[in-house]
Amino acid sequence: MSTRKGLKLKKAAVMKMGTAAGLTTEELYRELLSRLVEDATRDGLAETPERVEKAMAFLTQGYAMDVRTVLNGALFEVEYDEMVMVRDIEFYSLCEHHLLPFFGKIHVAYVPSGRVIGLSKIPRLVEMFSRRLQVQERLTTEIADAIVEAIAPQGVGVIVEAQHLCMMMRGVEKQHSATVTSAMRGVFKTQTQTRNEFLSLVRRGGGEI
Ligand SMILES: [Zn+2]
Repeated sequence: MSTRKGLKLKKAAVMKMGTAAGLTTEELYRELLSRLVEDATRDGLAETPERVEKAMAFLTQGYAMDVRTVLNGALFEVEYDEMVMVRDIEFYSLCEHHLLPFFGKIHVAYVPSGRVIGLSKIPRLVEMFSRRLQVQERLTTEIADAIVEAIAPQGVGVIVEAQHLCMMMRGVEKQHSATVTSAMRGVFKTQTQTRNEFLSLVRRGGGEI
C-alpha cells in the first residue's frame, strides 16, 4: 500500500517537471525570446510566442498522422506493371539538429506488383514525413519504406534534393549547392535498367542528379 502511494507521488512530480513547472508552450516561447533579445516586451514581439506556437504545431503536424490513415481508401488493384513516377514534389521540413528548415524536391517512383497508390496520396505521404523533425536521409528512407509496406511493389526509388538553411545561413555550404539522397528498394536496387530509367526521368525534369 505504501509503495503504491510512493509511486503515485513520484509520477505526479515527474509530470510537473514534464510541463516545465507549469509553463504553457506560449510561455516557454516567451521565456526563450527573453533570453535571445534585449527587450522581449516590445510591441513587435508581443504576439510572437503565440504565433511561433501555432507555426511549430503546423510544421510538426506529421506526428499526428500515420501511413494507414493517409493512404486510406486509395490503394487499387491493377494489372499495370510499368514504372509509376511522381516527380518534383515540393517539400518543406525542419532539421532535427537545428530546428531550421530544409526544403526542395522529392521524386518518387515504383514498379507495382498488383497494387498501386492513388497518385495524389504520394505527395500526402511526403507531407506527412516532412512535417516532422527530420534528417534528410531518414526522410528519404521513410517514404520508400512506407510504400514498400503499403503495396509490396516490385521496387521503389526515392530521390530527395534539398537545401539546408542550417548550413546556408551559417555559411557552412555554398549557397546554391543541393544535398541529394536516395533510397532504392527491390528492382530499383537490383536492376540497373530500372534504376537508370528512374534517374533519366528525374534528369529530364531538370533534377540536379
Ligand atoms: Zn541542421
